[in-house]
Amino acid sequence: MINENIHRIQQKIKEKCAEAGRNSDDVTLIAVSKTFPSADIRKAYEYGLVNFGENKAQELRNKFDELADLNDRLRWHFIGTLQKNKVKYLIDSTEYIHSVDSQELADEINKRMEKAGHEVMNSHKKKKILIEVKTSGEETKAGIENKKEVIDLLNHCKNLSSVEVVGLMTIAPFTEDKNLIRNSFASLRKLRDRLNTMGFNLKELSMGMTSDFEIAIEEGATFLRIGTAIFGQRTYTNKPEAH
Ligand SMILES: *Cc1c(COP(=O)(O)O)cnc(C)c1O
Repeated sequence: MINENIHRIQQKIKEKCAEAGRNSDDVTLIAVSKTFPSADIRKAYEYGLVNFGENKAQELRNKFDELADLNDRLRWHFIGTLQKNKVKYLIDSTEYIHSVDSQELADEINKRMEKAGHEVMNSHKKKKILIEVKTSGEETKAGIENKKEVIDLLNHCKNLSSVEVVGLMTIAPFTEDKNLIRNSFASLRKLRDRLNTMGFNLKELSMGMTSDFEIAIEEGATFLRIGTAIFGQRTYTNKPEAH
């Protein structure tokens, strides 16, 4: 089941990249494994995936420990709202933190990295982070809405020795309206391009989930965060099962 799902989604990503004139090597599939057990992650790994995303720091850390035999091969991405007191769980487990939205959080990651003496997984000297931007206008979503604040955070991070901002992340509005979703992704891409003309060096665009990854590919996504299409419906929601 997981194998077939991965095969299907990889096929769709390839097709969409070809259609959009993009190289599929530039688009990384992150399997969002939140709420699913380590055994499922192992199956996905055995089928060829190495990038996994979690939205709770402690859950990520537990799975990292349970999959210790794969630790030099798996690449963990933290994609959820992050509280400062949970940063400690991510320091030696996580390669990318997608959801940084304040100077305080960036400072905490930097401080913890320095404290760890740079002796972290895969000997990364800096923690790779993305700035979460709110492109949807939705009150309930996290992220920085104001462009000047994004610039301030980028400038702030330049002075931190142990974090490196590698890109931007967003979550599209919760809607059926494809135009609104497209506008949300396009605005993230435009912001990245604009920031790069100002001298920043941002490569990654983390955008697109099960329901909207095709639009995200068209709009330039480099990281797709896909859960349901790989692991199936999560059971903590009240939504009826789709089958
Ligand atoms: C859960 C989650 C995803 C994956 O969502 P699916 O619809 O299951 O693909 C992507 N991004 C974030 C931030 C998430 O929390």
